[in-house]
Amino acid sequence: MHVTFYGGVREVTGSMHLLNTGTDRILIDCGLFQGRRKESAEKNRILPIDPAALSNVLLTHAHIDHSGRLPILVKNNFRGRIICTRTTMDECGFLLMDSAHIQESDADYLNYKSLRGFLYELKQNKKTKKVSNREINRIKKLLKKDKNELNRDEIVSLQSKYNLNRVVPLYTKGDAEDTLEQFDSYPYKHDIEIGEDTSCRFYDAGHILGSSLVLVKIKKNDTTKNILFSGDIGRFNQPILKDPTLEFDEGDRDIDLLVMESTYGDRLHDSHDNTYNLLKETLKSTHEKGGSVVIPSFALGRTQEIIYVLHELYDSGDVPKMPIFVDSPLGVNLTKVFGEHPECYDQESHETFLQKGKNPFMFRHITYVKSVQDSMKLMRNTDPHIVISSSGMCEAGRILHHLRYKIHDPRNTVLIVGFMARNTLGRKILELGLEKKSTGNNSPDPLVKIYGKMYPLRAEVIQLGGFSAHGDRDEMTKFITDSNLNIKRIVLVHGEEEQMIKFGEHLRKVTGKDIVLPYMGDSVFL
Ligand SMILES: [Zn+2]
Repeated sequence: MHVTFYGGVREVTGSMHLLNTGTDRILIDCGLFQGRRKESAEKNRILPIDPAALSNVLLTHAHIDHSGRLPILVKNNFRGRIICTRTTMDECGFLLMDSAHIQESDADYLNYKSLRGFLYELKQNKKTKKVSNREINRIKKLLKKDKNELNRDEIVSLQSKYNLNRVVPLYTKGDAEDTLEQFDSYPYKHDIEIGEDTSCRFYDAGHILGSSLVLVKIKKNDTTKNILFSGDIGRFNQPILKDPTLEFDEGDRDIDLLVMESTYGDRLHDSHDNTYNLLKETLKSTHEKGGSVVIPSFALGRTQEIIYVLHELYDSGDVPKMPIFVDSPLGVNLTKVFGEHPECYDQESHETFLQKGKNPFMFRHITYVKSVQDSMKLMRNTDPHIVISSSGMCEAGRILHHLRYKIHDPRNTVLIVGFMARNTLGRKILELGLEKKSTGNNSPDPLVKIYGKMYPLRAEVIQLGGFSAHGDRDEMTKFITDSNLNIKRIVLVHGEEEQMIKFGEHLRKVTGKDIVLPYMGDSVFL
């Protein structure tokens, strides 16, 4: 029996582990690699396993870096079940469709570019090519259309006519729909048969709503081996979510192998109080200036957390009650999923809101924006307000329009509440904003490019460091040392190499246990 690591190995995205019990092959997570476009596209296109040979897939949580390659499995003849918690299934219903939409739009854009390149060549070598002027004009006209209404079929047929490279989407909305049919969901702490003499159980991981630690139990002859996959581990004492599980049921406590994440293996998060206070100050000072607050935010998790905290602050009367707008269709849909699963909330949410008959995500000052018209009206609105919009790293979506209308005005604030990866617009705004603050206001306004145009960054940029969904070094260590588990061996995954190595050293010192840091394709035998 062995576990092989195929993704999230010395990096944070693309989580995928294969458990081979001798009779069954069970995949744990099947996430998308994210990062530099070309590099991740190549990694996502090659599957290291034969999907048809898999018995079942276990999914720890809905985040795309854990679930985003599931449609590729189904497209390639995986016919087993995708087993997860009920909330995870509901969230995937929106996230996988959204991911498929992004895959299709990316492919459309690249195909459009390939045809545009061909047109350019035709114009350069008019005499050598045997393409009529009429045809050239037809292609020109086709490419001139608004990008949103590109004629996909016509572009594809021209690509095949002229033998141009065509990009096929990694998967389509149809593939995502087929994938959702294979989901099979269960409550926490429920025994689920997943193969011959093999079962699993989910425990709350406290990372996002519905996230789980999954315990796999394999019976061979007279012995049972227990393997616990952490998925992503959340934080302690955070709003909405329950803490990561520390109390495991009898019979589930002896762990032969723990496969554990290590994202913030060498970092400690800013404290809860600091985060709250900075948020309060920011809302007050922006309101005094007569400005608005723009919050780029991930649609799942962070958006709901911010709404929850704002609701608490508004109820406490500690901040000015500016109208709040949630302008992200995916965020609106996912907030509905949150509303439908109060069983996942922690005690504090029950006491603060639910027992008083309140919905944490619905209050007088909040408006959920769905239509494009309402979104456009909002971006031109200059009355003080708060807008929460995606994408989280400002790479696409409605947030770009709010930024384009608001960053030139020094009365406004851009509030950064999430991780901004290198080479994203969000990272650029963050770095330029902080640099400007440190050099004083007399320095020239930095310029930021949005939709091909340059805008001066005059809005204040504030970073709130305490809003991570991942436990930091001490919280992850607490999970190991304070839980009632007896762990024999630990394998670290899901962390940049440096974080992983440092966390490994830390754990060896604190626990005295054997810590394994695998490379891609390595196996651990039991
Ligand atoms: Zn996650």
